[in-house]
Amino acid sequence: MADYDVLIVGGGIAGASLGAGIATERRTAIIEAESHCGFHATGRSAAFWLESYGGPQVALLSAASRDFLNEPTAAFSERSFLRMRGALHLTRGELPTLPDIVETRVVERIELERLLPGVRPEWRRALFEAGCSDIDVAGLHAAYLKQFGRRGGTIRIEARLESAIYSGGEWKVRLKDRSTVSAQVLVNAAGAWADPVAMACGVAPLGIAPKRRTVVQLRIGRTGLRDLPLVDDSDGTFYFKGEGDRTVWLSPHDEIDSDPCDAAPEEIDVATAIHRFERVVDWPIEAVERRWAGLRSFAPDRLPVYGFDPDAPSFFWCVGLGGFGIQTAPAASRLATSVLLGKRSYQSIEKIDPAIFSPARFVAAPAH
Ligand SMILES: Cc1cc2nc3c(=O)[nH]c(=O)nc-3n(C[C@H](O)[C@H](O)[C@H](O)COP(=O)(O)OP(=O)(O)OC[C@H]3O[C@@H](n4cnc5c(N)ncnc54)[C@H](O)[C@@H]3O)c2cc1C
Repeated sequence: MADYDVLIVGGGIAGASLGAGIATERRTAIIEAESHCGFHATGRSAAFWLESYGGPQVALLSAASRDFLNEPTAAFSERSFLRMRGALHLTRGELPTLPDIVETRVVERIELERLLPGVRPEWRRALFEAGCSDIDVAGLHAAYLKQFGRRGGTIRIEARLESAIYSGGEWKVRLKDRSTVSAQVLVNAAGAWADPVAMACGVAPLGIAPKRRTVVQLRIGRTGLRDLPLVDDSDGTFYFKGEGDRTVWLSPHDEIDSDPCDAAPEEIDVATAIHRFERVVDWPIEAVERRWAGLRSFAPDRLPVYGFDPDAPSFFWCVGLGGFGIQTAPAASRLATSVLLGKRSYQSIEKIDPAIFSPARFVAAPAH
């Protein structure tokens, strides 16, 4: 018998949330290459829930996740993971078009000055998205890992998959320390390493592209910033949000192709972020307190991928979570769990068609 029914490669939000979903029904282990599970993208996010982000299909997953994030079951967490903030999508010209399900209202210049004191004159108006919230990412990720453990799941850190072969109805996996582990089903939840992990298993890659995003924490010479809305622009060139009373998190909205790696910010992206910020508000910048970068990984159509590979036996993809992996985690976990276990059992996702996210969508239709 194989060591496990399911072996999940990667302990970020994808692996942790899917693991928690299946662990009651399958003997499951997560193998994580690093010394702790949130080391890469999951530990570096900007931590917001923004329903309009990622287009209409992703918005369905975000919307279906909201109730659970806001009011999780008591067994999962005693506290909500969300804190209401609101978002202002600024424009110098046309207002942005957002998915139909997102509730917004137009904010004209006079109200804009009240909501964002110090906003520069060229920003004529904005769309206000009231539902935008901060997510307690560390709390959510930890709660999934805890639930996974309570349900009998095993986590092995510093356990990097080096290669795997499928034979005799199971995956035989070799780890970096040369030990081996076997499982009937292998889940690829390796984030930026999704394609290299697939290839190490002899499975054709899907074209999952890691892209670097930079965030800086600025100290500002004014107070009262913590509760201001998230601010971005209709052209997608920056976003920032109040973090402390006098600090903001700012991103230049960069999306730079990268190999999978321990991503670090580049000076040019920090400078670009600051330059763009100074064109939005007249707030004096006192210091760059922190800077970091992470990799957001996208499938060719920028939708996430959940499902069994159509050609490789018992190889399940849970990848391509782009910039929305945290805010979609509850619905994505339920969807991936139901596909992996072969049953539809969650009311919150009953209107979402799993075929949209299946890796089968990348298989070319036969020529006639
Ligand atoms: C700057 C930034 C801001 C973001 N802001 C938001 C936001 O506001 N809201 C939101 O919802 N999302 C946001 N995201 C996106 C979100 O962080 C990601 O979608 C999500 O964390 C991806 O999770 P993951 O589990 O797929 O990847 P990861 O967290 O990267 O986990 C993959 C894991 O696989 C492990 N691994 C890789 N190869 C192997 C191997 N061979 N063997 C074993 N383990 C392996 C890695 O070590 C890693 O821990 C942001 C991302 C960034 C970078």
